[in-house]
Amino acid sequence: MPGHQTQKTIHVDGEWRAAVSGATREILDPADAGPFATVAEGDERDADLAVAAARRAFDAGAWPRTPVAERAALLRRVAGLLVRDREELALLESRDTGKTLEEGRVDVDCVADAFRYFADLVAGEGAGRVVDAGSPDVHSVVVHEPVGVCSLITPWNYPLLQASWKVAPALAAGNTFVLKPSEITPLTTVALVALLAEAGLPAGVANIVTGPGDPVGARLAEHPDVDLVSFTGGLASGTKVARAAAAGVKKVALELGGKNPNVVFADACATAEGFDTAVDQALNAAFMHSGQVCSAGSRLIVEEPVRERFVAELARRAGRIRLGRGTEKGVECGPLVSARQRERTEEYVASALAEGAVLRSGGGRPGPSGVRPATGYFYEPTVLDHCHRGMRVVREEVFGPVLTVETFRTEDEAVALANDTEYGLAGAVWTADAGRARRVAGRLRHGTVWINDFHPYLPQAEWGGFGRSGVGRELGPAGLAEYRETKHVYQNLAPGPVRWFAG
Ligand code: NAD
Repeated sequence: MPGHQTQKTIHVDGEWRAAVSGATREILDPADAGPFATVAEGDERDADLAVAAARRAFDAGAWPRTPVAERAALLRRVAGLLVRDREELALLESRDTGKTLEEGRVDVDCVADAFRYFADLVAGEGAGRVVDAGSPDVHSVVVHEPVGVCSLITPWNYPLLQASWKVAPALAAGNTFVLKPSEITPLTTVALVALLAEAGLPAGVANIVTGPGDPVGARLAEHPDVDLVSFTGGLASGTKVARAAAAGVKKVALELGGKNPNVVFADACATAEGFDTAVDQALNAAFMHSGQVCSAGSRLIVEEPVRERFVAELARRAGRIRLGRGTEKGVECGPLVSARQRERTEEYVASALAEGAVLRSGGGRPGPSGVRPATGYFYEPTVLDHCHRGMRVVREEVFGPVLTVETFRTEDEAVALANDTEYGLAGAVWTADAGRARRVAGRLRHGTVWINDFHPYLPQAEWGGFGRSGVGRELGPAGLAEYRETKHVYQNLAPGPVRWFAG
């Protein structure tokens, strides 16, 4: 598997190669800040070569015209190879991102599920939708065709998973693509491209360029031979990508950030079991993968009468989370992905405290004692009480292990707080009252709403955001539709003159 032992991590037209410039980048292990792999550091020239290869492969037509059943079979072979390499991929993802090995395994399973889902979806479709044209002499059919060359740009928090949500539907629909993983976590995405080749994908269909957002991602977003840009990442880069793509009127899909509310009604905590579940899931919502999750439940909005009991227990349990290298046994939370990400987190916590938040747990780098490691980009799971909507830490995505606490007294107030965000990716409501659960879920302006749960998603259900969380959807039938053009073919079986013009 290329990636961690070779610097030829750029794949163009079926060949593994170094960057045109010869530049390389060291990939750091966030658990000890030490380098553990070297990859090619591409630039515009590598992006141009990759787009040219994808363009040739698309225009030659072999993959777009491959029968759907064969395309689906290839996706299923990829799923099989992912299962075969599960442990190796999980380990690589854990070292690259800092997430625990178990999280890495779950990611690989979800990636294989995505490939199987899109294989089943396309294989189960008909060849088109016949439309009643109102005349026996007309045959009218609506068909789907691939969009063309796709630029697929992905972030560092779920490198393999986010890539699969784009790669699987893009291939299922018959497109060719250039993939650009995050420059700090490219290794499993490089491995995925190697698996696609092993599964028998023709050369030139799947290309990858490792390298920085600017210039590689920027070039892929604006390149005149690219037809579609699908981007997952932060709001700032997503805005630039949308602007670059707009100049060429490319199709654009954006999966951006979130500031996700976790609304807890007092009735959810009425029993000991209910209370334990709600606290446990609030911890999971906020601190899984050290909060570096686009759908992290980083805003706890809890009904006032249970606030003190809830936050006290939450803070107690947050303080017991075992930090450490993701590959070590017993570790529950890894480090943040980079020094920059930890500095950002520290700045947000400092600003929150200056604005009047009350620290209930965490709030710093772990000390050298106990299970808490002193090296690497670790940050303690942090609970900030007495927060309000005026604070930056409540409005902006921290992308670190920081949970803010707000309170409400009425259902209307809970909904107003939960919707008071420029984002709209995901949110949850916890209540024992089924009617209220449905009512509140119906009023939340978020792309995914969980009732008495947090985080699960299904490949067959669309994922994406309201508001500034993005444009378009991944997964589900809409996640395939992103990668398709729709064509209406109208066939006149009895052509004759229309005599619109008399002469
Ligand atoms: P980022 O925006 O910094 O980078 C994402 C990708 O874009 C990287 O590959 C990067 O190299 C590239 N990039 C950067 N500048 C670019 C430019 N000008 N043109 C083209 N490409 C460019 O994001 P990140 O820090 O890697 O990831 C974290 C963000 O991703 C968070 O905001 C998170 O919420 C979001 N995210 C969203 C989802 C979702 O499903 N909505 C999923 C995962 C992550």
